[in-house]
Amino acid sequence: MSSKKPTIGNTLQARCAKCRKITSHTIVAMIEELPTEVQCNVCKHPSVAKKLVVRRPVDPHKSEREEWATLRPGMDTSRATEYSMTAAYKKKALLNHPIFGLGLVQRVTGPQKMVVLFAEGEKIMRCH
Ligand SMILES: [Zn+2]
Repeated sequence: MSSKKPTIGNTLQARCAKCRKITSHTIVAMIEELPTEVQCNVCKHPSVAKKLVVRRPVDPHKSEREEWATLRPGMDTSRATEYSMTAAYKKKALLNHPIFGLGLVQRVTGPQKMVVLFAEGEKIMRCH
């Protein structure tokens, strides 16, 4: 398998409704980076790549990243402290995580848990 992104004219393995088995298909149409229409190389039967559409990984963090993008300009990075799981945090506190980078405390959810919004989405972090 190639890890390259598919493009029109590429072939991929998909189940053909006519052949009733997995055959190689040529991509004939795409939306963004997703093949939406393929043609069986064996019987030339065109099919809508519904399964491929369904299989598209949903991104649970998309809205969170958008929220981050909205909030980011208002963040005063000079107020950010180094993240420590033994420190206590309040809502809207800014922290610097060694891996995730700048984070904004969204809410403290439990005795030692908080939700922090990072550029890549929300994460549950330990805190005191
Ligand atoms: Zn076929």
